[in-house]
Amino acid sequence: MSDFATIAGKVVVITGGARGIGLATATALQALGAKIAIGDIDETTVKESGAARGFDVYGTLDVTDPQSFTDFLDEVERRLGPIDVLINNAGIMPTGRVVDEPDQITRRILDINVYGVILGSKLAIARMLPRGRGHVINIASLAGESHIPGLATYNASKHAVLGFTDTLREEYRGTGVEFSSVLPTLTKTELGTGISLPKLMRPAEPEEIADAIAKLIASPRAKARVTAVAGLIAQVVGLLPQS
Ligand code: NAD
Repeated sequence: MSDFATIAGKVVVITGGARGIGLATATALQALGAKIAIGDIDETTVKESGAARGFDVYGTLDVTDPQSFTDFLDEVERRLGPIDVLINNAGIMPTGRVVDEPDQITRRILDINVYGVILGSKLAIARMLPRGRGHVINIASLAGESHIPGLATYNASKHAVLGFTDTLREEYRGTGVEFSSVLPTLTKTELGTGISLPKLMRPAEPEEIADAIAKLIASPRAKARVTAVAGLIAQVVGLLPQS
């Protein structure tokens, strides 16, 4: 059983938190008593969202830029104390056949969705390991376990996130620093616009993914892969037992 009381007071950083799943997650965790920092490349929206919701820290962050990422995490720790949870959520999903994809788009998808996650994880490990505690949550996608046509580079990026996160979980087992990935289904955000699901399936609300992430943070046992499917999310399906 998840114990939501354990979330109160935790310092949580969410990348790409200006809107969508990141913003919904920030809002849900704030309601559970967490101290929230959101960073986003969209300066205007992150400031609007941060001020409107009264988050503790909000500002510009480019997850592909080591200096920007480091500065943001430094600012959070200066103002809120040691980071307990980093949610590497920022991502993009341009669609189309890879043969038609401009090379700069291919590189940008990999830069944000893969390098940004690796960079964030590295920076978090350096801070969390000496303290012997911390939790890194990497937002992947069901696309990381499937082969959706028209999303080849995106699919590749999310497969990479899963492989990377599973490896870190093994490498840091027993250190107190934990690694999870979350695999949302299609979700009603700007990123998810224009993609359709088979009949009988519905897209998730961002709040449902946020709920799954809150359960993951509050769960005393599994810190593994969480599959978040609309309608079933309340139960958090796909939680793998810890070996
Ligand atoms: P969104 O487009 O609503 O929000 C993504 C946010 O990331 C935006 O605010 C954007 O400005 C920010 N961002 C983009 N590049 C950035 C960078 N370089 N540095 C910092 N921030 C940056 O998308 P969303 O649907 O909320 O997606 C959040 C995550 O969930 C992504 O990793 C996405 O791949 C994943 N996901 C989404 C869906 C879906 O259907 N919406 C499904 C599965 C997984």
